[in-house]
Amino acid sequence: MNELLKKTAAEQSKALKNKEISAVELTQAAFERIDELDEKLGTFNSLTKETALNTAKKVDEKIANGEELPLLAGIPLALKDNMNLVGSKTTASSKILENFVSPFNATITQKLLDNLVPIVGKANLDEFAMGSSNENSAFRKVRNPWNLNKVPGGSSGGSAASVAACEATLALGSDTGGSIRLPASFCGIVGMKPTYGRVSRYGLIAFASSLDQIGPFTRSVEDAANLLEVISGHDPKDSTSLNLPVEHYAAGLANDIKGKKVGVIKELISEGLTEDVSKAMEKAIETYKNLGCEIVEISLPRLKYSIGIYYILATAECSSNLARFDGVKYGYRTPDAKNLMEMYTKTRAEGFGPEVKRRIMLGTYALSSGYYDAYYKKAQQMRALVTEDFKKAFEQVDILISPTCPNTAFELGAKASDPLAMYLTDIATISANLAGIPGISIPAGFDRDGMPIGLQILAPQLQETKLFNMSYQFEQAHDYWKQLPNI
Ligand code: GLN
Repeated sequence: MNELLKKTAAEQSKALKNKEISAVELTQAAFERIDELDEKLGTFNSLTKETALNTAKKVDEKIANGEELPLLAGIPLALKDNMNLVGSKTTASSKILENFVSPFNATITQKLLDNLVPIVGKANLDEFAMGSSNENSAFRKVRNPWNLNKVPGGSSGGSAASVAACEATLALGSDTGGSIRLPASFCGIVGMKPTYGRVSRYGLIAFASSLDQIGPFTRSVEDAANLLEVISGHDPKDSTSLNLPVEHYAAGLANDIKGKKVGVIKELISEGLTEDVSKAMEKAIETYKNLGCEIVEISLPRLKYSIGIYYILATAECSSNLARFDGVKYGYRTPDAKNLMEMYTKTRAEGFGPEVKRRIMLGTYALSSGYYDAYYKKAQQMRALVTEDFKKAFEQVDILISPTCPNTAFELGAKASDPLAMYLTDIATISANLAGIPGISIPAGFDRDGMPIGLQILAPQLQETKLFNMSYQFEQAHDYWKQLPNI
């Protein structure tokens, strides 16, 4: 492997500007790495070589002309395969979209292209982003670069594994209930979910629209701050997009955090953690103390309802969002239907995988008349209460911390036949989506088997700059983030 692939985007940018390597060479190096690992890891659904190399060429022209480069120009990036890129297959890892070719760019894709970020490929995911292990892809499973018998986490498993394995330096994922933070934690990298509305969802295949948010995967906090800056901003094509200026998030990284109040979420450290995750949490608390922060224990009394609330709201929204896949407008159509009704039912029966069907049925049930008040309406009311818990907490502290997950990556197949056990993996991450607040997972150590442990940090809405500052200070106090899997 080209040693430069192991560097952060910030370092790669320097190397490009100093002409140690050209953008085309760097992109080609990424493709060589992908070729080497593809069979082992299963990270990509498809590669977009032409797009990537064309972009890289433009970067090299700019460098040759002595022109200023946009942020992250020339740095190889993997796009989760539920985001549209013109001319690429956008499958959501579903059979129903197996041959769907994007006729338009997502807003984030356009921003990446404008910033001359070479998009190397479309990363594998759990079908329609539903899952926590990336075992729900209709095509193939993704494996964890730290141990090929373990899952990379989901649903953005391909994005996370590609960055951990140095196939790409940057990646984008989507996070509806933890799908960026969980795989970041399992793969030992940085993964960040922005405030709801900060990043446009236009061109992201919708799972649960009131929860979905796109965000960065990187190997350093600085890179994550820069990637968020590139993709953020108001978009009239997404009615939930916030019309607020984009900050230069990396500007505050070095700010002193002495005197900041760090809240430790009581409900997420008291039960169910493995011994090693528990120890890593104690160390994380110690780190913040050493950085001069005040530690406060914070209770979020309604957090325990988060998973229940999420699995009503997310399934309800997905049952509606996925109604469009009917064999008429686009995507797969069953070859042998005798009438229209049979065409609909067969198309959907053949096109969707088991987890997606389970979610559509659960959501349809929760929304059906007679049950709507008991389930959907109740869940919405409870969502407001969870949000209120966070509001109260942030009156007392600057940030909240917890493990990203009570355990490290598990063996492939370990939870595949037990949906409830799988759903519980998201206990620490889901509530941030319900409240619309930003959250990040950063490397915080390793367990006895050498698997990465993630620290989750949450901040109030739109306080991304503070979130990155608090993350960066933690990151720089250790060298966990510099460790790479030996693959
Ligand atoms: N694991 C959760 C689920 O299966 C979250 C997925 C996500 O964030 N996209 O729904």
